[in-house]
Amino acid sequence: MARSSPGRLLVCATPIGNLGDVTLRVLDALRFADVTLAEDTRVTARLFARYGIETPLERFDEVTAAAKTPRVLERIASGETVALVSDAGTPGISDPGHRLIAACLDAGIEVEVLPGPSAVVTALVASGLPTRSFFFGGFLPRKAGERERLLASVADLDATLVFFESPKRVARTLRAIADVLPGRQGAVARELTKVHAEVLRGSVEDLARQLSDREVKGEVVVLVGPPEQRAAAVDDDELARDVETLVRGGVTRSEAVREVARTRGVPRSRVYAAAHADRRTQRGDGS
Ligand code: SAM
Repeated sequence: MARSSPGRLLVCATPIGNLGDVTLRVLDALRFADVTLAEDTRVTARLFARYGIETPLERFDEVTAAAKTPRVLERIASGETVALVSDAGTPGISDPGHRLIAACLDAGIEVEVLPGPSAVVTALVASGLPTRSFFFGGFLPRKAGERERLLASVADLDATLVFFESPKRVARTLRAIADVLPGRQGAVARELTKVHAEVLRGSVEDLARQLSDREVKGEVVVLVGPPEQRAAAVDDDELARDVETLVRGGVTRSEAVREVARTRGVPRSRVYAAAHADRRTQRGDGS
């Protein structure tokens, strides 16, 4: 990577568990930087040891971020290249990185983001819940009243909801979700990409029950599927049109029905009935 002047901030995504999940470009940037700012230098030191990186590490976390930011801006302005990492995943997503990024942009400093893992997208995809639209709520409020208000405020969103949660609070959070958003499908993604990775799936009531008598350990993401009644908002003509488009593209009719049911979030039987009725109308018969 060529050195450029003045300096810049390189925002580097790092693994969320498996140290193999790091891009070549991030490794290059971490080697090239004058300094790497890390939430917990001991965590990042393990990544550095694995890849033989010797760039100096400095602590930059929730406690130290505000005090250290002016000095970091000065260093970058004087031509240094500063890499920013968090303990896991993409800096700026529910960690102190976003404030430094905003401060650099305010100061006219170049910020380059080197993409890579994030627990948000990994958990969303692993959950099997609809991905066409999602709402990421960060960490849910700890106070019961605030948590319930937040959940109620997103109840009507036609989107999968994604929240970070502490393992200690996950059972309580699922009970709150079951109260405010009853009957939803959900998932709890734990220790993703690590040896003990698991994804529990089921109704939110079921998940709350499963977790009530179990000690949950490790890092956790809680997901809640979109409200089912939204399915009624898709009209049957649209479903039939979707099926026909796929069939014309070479997909078998039963595969098309399955795919439309999955992407539209409606029962397969309804898509089948809509597509069947549409064909009967086109044929003009009563069969
Ligand atoms: N910036 C990070 C990212 O992009 O993934 C997230 C930082 S946030 C402070 C840490 C939270 O991410 C954890 O409390 C947990 O909810 C989630 N998390 C991180 N690693 C995870 C993993 N391997 N499995 C499940 N959740 C994880």
